[in-house]
Amino acid sequence: MYLLISQLFIAITGRNIPEEAFDVLFPLLQGERKGREDVCLGVTDYSRQTPHQILLGSIPCEFYQSWEQFLELKKKMRTKEWKNRYYLDRNTNIARKCKPVWESKTIWVDRTAEEPWTRLNYILYMKSEEDKKVVLHNINQYGDIRGIDVSWMNCCVFCGEFMRQRSYSFKSDKSDIEYMCKQINRFGYNYGSNFASSQKRNISGVPICGLCEGSKERQGEHRMNMLSRGDWGETLYHERSEDYHRNLGDMYEKPDIRQIPVDLVSGNKTPLECVITYWELTDPMSDYYWHPDLTADEYMRWIEHTHLSDLNFDDPDLLDDDLWDQVEEDPLCVVEDVIDGIIQQLEESQ
Ligand SMILES: [Zn+2]
Repeated sequence: MYLLISQLFIAITGRNIPEEAFDVLFPLLQGERKGREDVCLGVTDYSRQTPHQILLGSIPCEFYQSWEQFLELKKKMRTKEWKNRYYLDRNTNIARKCKPVWESKTIWVDRTAEEPWTRLNYILYMKSEEDKKVVLHNINQYGDIRGIDVSWMNCCVFCGEFMRQRSYSFKSDKSDIEYMCKQINRFGYNYGSNFASSQKRNISGVPICGLCEGSKERQGEHRMNMLSRGDWGETLYHERSEDYHRNLGDMYEKPDIRQIPVDLVSGNKTPLECVITYWELTDPMSDYYWHPDLTADEYMRWIEHTHLSDLNFDDPDLLDDDLWDQVEEDPLCVVEDVIDGIIQQLEESQ
């Protein structure tokens, strides 16, 4: 049976069944018919996902506080009115239908607030990038519900390859979309309430495909394909565009890497390890901007070099550091000192 499923899996998805699936499948295949049905559903769902995903936000909560209410919502979504409103491309001569090829829902209880409340993550899977854009536009022009492009959360941050396994767990993730976005952007870094309890970064939360993960050369090759932060309207990011990065690269000067000692070898495997947030790499205003004309290795060496000099050697303003040390010891004392200094200056100028 397992062999049959493995072959079916390859036929449907075009790839091998993940190894960890065996642990889940084995007990299910030994049990009742129900278990075998669950396996079939899982395999079908896995293959139905597409890389073009829209999360429906701001659905009125009266549609999912109970199963009956949710069925009402489903009924509403099957009406002609709903389909004409959201799933029609009116930019063509004859209006073109662009219905989602699959939909997934996860109803969950959010316990982060004082009062737990029921939430819904509803994702539409579109056939193509073009269909996704049309439907996003249609949904967001009315404003009664919100369409959020979440495709990037399941595609490699470098090469853009769709990560089906990740997408499969993402759809049943019981989390808020903005929280999920922060997890990726900050690599799961948590500053804690007072910095003392901050947690270590974990870049395994960032979508990176196996090929890019192991090769900084490949990461560098796909530098121009990376995302940058967009607005918080239809998307959370700027679309993948080589022109966009080329223009920025021409506008901002490439760092002078001749100053880096030749024997400096970076201890990092990816530029992601050099920054606090993912977006900093593509934001030209950031101190950690990865200039498109630097390879991944050059970038990492440059960051390590400039950081080391900032911290230990060429510190131009020692006075500020002294002041900072004092603030840490006794802030009140420093405030008094500063005020005394100002009074003294005023007296001297009179
Ligand atoms: Zn990749």
